[in-house]
Amino acid sequence: YIYIYSLFPVSPVRFNHLPLGFLSLVILLDSKAQQTELEWISYPPNGWEEISGLDENYTPIRTYQVCQVMEPNQNNWLRTNWIEKGNAQRIFVELKFTLRDCNSLPGVVGTCKETFNLYYQETDSEVGRSLRENQYVKIDTIAADESFTQGDLGERKMKLNTEVRIIGPLSRRGFYLAFQDVGACIALVSVKVYYKKCWSIIENLATFPDTVTGSEFSSLVEVEGACVSDAEEEADNSPKMHCSAEGEWLVPIGKCICKAGFHQKGDACEPCGRGFYKSSSQDLQCSRCPAHSFNDREGSWRCDCDDGYYRALSDPPSVACTSESACSNLVYNINQTTVGLEWNPPADTGGRNDVTYRVICRRCSWEPEECVPCGPNVGYSPAQSGLVDTYLSVVDLLAHANYTFEVEAVNGVSDLSRTQRLFGFYTTLNDTEVIKEKVQQRSIQLSWQEPQQPNGVITEYEIKYYEKDQKDRVYSTVRSKSTSATVNNLKPSTAYVFQIRAFTEAGYGTFGPRLEITTQEEATAAIVSSEQNPVIIIAVVAVAGTIILVFMVFGFIIGRRHCGYSKADQEGDEELYFQFKFPGTKTYIDPETYEDPNRAVHQFAKELDASCIKIERVIGAGEFGEVCSGRLKLPGKRDMSVAIKTLKVGYTEKQRRDFLCEASVMGQFDHPNVVHLEGVVTRGKPVMIVIEYMENGSLDGFLRKHDGQFTVIQLVGMLRGIAAGMRYLSDMGYVHRDLAARNILVNSNLVCKVSDFGLSRVIDDDPEAVYTTTGGKIPVRWTAPEAIQYRKFTSASDVWSYGVVMWEVMSYGERPYWDMSNQDVIKAIEEGYRLPAPMDCPPGLHQLMLDCWQKDRAERPKFDQIVSILDKMIRNPNTLKTPVGTCTRPISPLLDQSTPDFTAFRSVGEWLEAIKMERYRDNFTAAGYGSLESVARMSIEDVMSLGITLVGHQKKIMSSIQTMRAQMLHLHGTGVQV
Ligand code: AMP
Repeated sequence: YIYIYSLFPVSPVRFNHLPLGFLSLVILLDSKAQQTELEWISYPPNGWEEISGLDENYTPIRTYQVCQVMEPNQNNWLRTNWIEKGNAQRIFVELKFTLRDCNSLPGVVGTCKETFNLYYQETDSEVGRSLRENQYVKIDTIAADESFTQGDLGERKMKLNTEVRIIGPLSRRGFYLAFQDVGACIALVSVKVYYKKCWSIIENLATFPDTVTGSEFSSLVEVEGACVSDAEEEADNSPKMHCSAEGEWLVPIGKCICKAGFHQKGDACEPCGRGFYKSSSQDLQCSRCPAHSFNDREGSWRCDCDDGYYRALSDPPSVACTSESACSNLVYNINQTTVGLEWNPPADTGGRNDVTYRVICRRCSWEPEECVPCGPNVGYSPAQSGLVDTYLSVVDLLAHANYTFEVEAVNGVSDLSRTQRLFGFYTTLNDTEVIKEKVQQRSIQLSWQEPQQPNGVITEYEIKYYEKDQKDRVYSTVRSKSTSATVNNLKPSTAYVFQIRAFTEAGYGTFGPRLEITTQEEATAAIVSSEQNPVIIIAVVAVAGTIILVFMVFGFIIGRRHCGYSKADQEGDEELYFQFKFPGTKTYIDPETYEDPNRAVHQFAKELDASCIKIERVIGAGEFGEVCSGRLKLPGKRDMSVAIKTLKVGYTEKQRRDFLCEASVMGQFDHPNVVHLEGVVTRGKPVMIVIEYMENGSLDGFLRKHDGQFTVIQLVGMLRGIAAGMRYLSDMGYVHRDLAARNILVNSNLVCKVSDFGLSRVIDDDPEAVYTTTGGKIPVRWTAPEAIQYRKFTSASDVWSYGVVMWEVMSYGERPYWDMSNQDVIKAIEEGYRLPAPMDCPPGLHQLMLDCWQKDRAERPKFDQIVSILDKMIRNPNTLKTPVGTCTRPISPLLDQSTPDFTAFRSVGEWLEAIKMERYRDNFTAAGYGSLESVARMSIEDVMSLGITLVGHQKKIMSSIQTMRAQMLHLHGTGVQV
């Protein structure tokens, strides 16, 4: 049985190695993203094995591993679940894996391989769970660019290989991938399956839809674009683009342009604003209305002329509106039946130079005056209309008849003005009085009467208005079907000019007279109270949001700095820590079984040259001498931080042997959660043991220093590490005997490692160890009853100790059983009492502790079970949620004995000291909480308002207040009301 375990971190920058256009990827399968078990099919059952690991954020990742390197003729298959491919034709398969170098494995020549095969099978639907090899099409044989060796001590980094293969063109609805192992030692860390797509974009005002790349590497897929709204295709230039095999849009051809009345803003066409127009799609910009024209609608292709101004039909919209004006000084002379007419041009040509003249001739009766057109019998010289000169002759008139002549100066707008005036005449509101019904700060209500002589049924009125003092006169309009209207959204204290016109089937009439009205002053406006002001509320929410964001970012940084198994160094490729174990090759050997202890040391520990070690400072005191920190620089290796345990001068031979014994034990271990021995110096002085440096020192002190500062997940992550280290040690047959938080070391990444190895002397060294009646020193609070009573030390007794470590971790380094005496602890345990759940400890974790403290050691969980229970908890963080206060209630009588009696405290300071929160004494005093009674009434908000920001501390104080309150109630009946 070959078992590979403990998969550790991946680089935090996950997309480093993706191709540049990775945004064009559509992921069909990403094993790393899956939180639950992958449950792929593995055949035969002892081949590929699904194994979970954690990344640096304690996020579980699922991997498959196989390492059947010792048996010949391996044929281990692993098949993914069915992968539905949509309309993709070319599929990319990205594999990340590590592969062990066969040369580094003893006794595997001929059986160990360094490649595996990748296959696929296309199907239209899922097929059963049986695996038929002949149905698979081989994609490739995959070899590692870099394999790794177990290598030297301390060199445990492995290169992660990334291989990408392309399959296709595929035609069925989906497919399976299969991995065939023929005897390699592989960890398949991630399988990502994707295809490439050109994502929908807008280019040249045309939308191009999501487009799956073509089936061939060189193919370009031509895609027609659809114009965005209010845009149209440019003539003979319809928009097209090409989707490349890499998922990039290439070669744009043609374009869309914004329709008349709309202009381009970014990737959209927006309507021209009021007072602006755009007459053609060819124009780029909206233009301001030309002189004497206005526009009260958005999205106009032209502007309407102001009252009394006109534009000829042939005039482009860019031309200013103009008015007409009359000729003057018309004179005539009569010569028989001919009349000569002469006149002066109009004083104002209305800004136009297209003035011509025409004559209207009417013959009228004498009394009453009734006129009729002169008709075709009358002649005009040179013509009746289109006259450029200011004279003409009218010939062939009847004698003794009464004629009327009108000379009109006609310009490009005259016909329009005539027509307009015709309709307008009948519906003019000139004589109608407009009444101001109600004038407010922001609205004005108007009413008027229907005109006397409408030229048809009036269907609507239009109220045009503008700000009187505004330079660019921008009109707004309101329409009304009745003879009243309210104009809203006005500015206070502002003068507006209103005009009204009527609309009949014949069209709009002319506007009535201008009416000026000023809105009311602002000062009289109701003041919106600040509590109700939505702006203020929004601002508060925004500030709160910012604070939350800051905490999230901060938390993330903390998480990244402290949490988990981050990369050892940041150079180059992703690297993983792996640990491989081979059956039969690793069992712990007791160094005491060696006659010559020196031989034992050199069997398991590397002799280092003292010149490679630089001692920098003293960091602690061990039983045999000082513990220092320093640097180790081995030839060809990067220099590293180390802890150096020294043997003090004047040692005895036994002391030397005992000292080095720890190295003989530690040197046999190689696991990320067991402190790693770099080597020893036995051939020089001082004698030294060189160990990997654990920046945060021992776990108990570390937790006490950071009381309340970690999330439950982080704490469980630490416990998981310790359990994994212990699983490794127990698998090797090593019984620790002194597992306790003080003997766990913590590195800068918050990785916990089991330390303090040795034989009986380790326990002799432990200040917690006391002599028991059975002889020998024992750290009573951490030790299982059978080990105390008859020195039965086993992995099951280590599990008991592990339960106590769990308790220490969850209570941030609290002393187990507080200040109870060792004898009382032994007695209480014997009577069945157990430690209660620490504050805010998830019930599931306390249950696990209680399981570790089963009296019958056979009933206790094994370390591998503990690891998988913790893994499950980490994977389902909901199971770690604690209802507030649930763990603060006494669970067992032991707690009853040990919970401080809060009613016995005489002052707030004393109470704070008892719960180790004396640092907040001044906060309580400053806020006026002088008595325990006043403290007992405090709510969580009160506690927060003292400026206690650490959530852990808030909870600790609050739960103590709750207990105090309960005790006071018990004591005084209804003494405290909250
Ligand atoms: P020990 O003799 O192993 O109990 O070590 C004494 C003290 O030295 C410990 O409590 C630690 O604070 C510190 N220490 C021991 N080993 C290391 C290490 N590898 N890295 C950092 N500190 C260490």
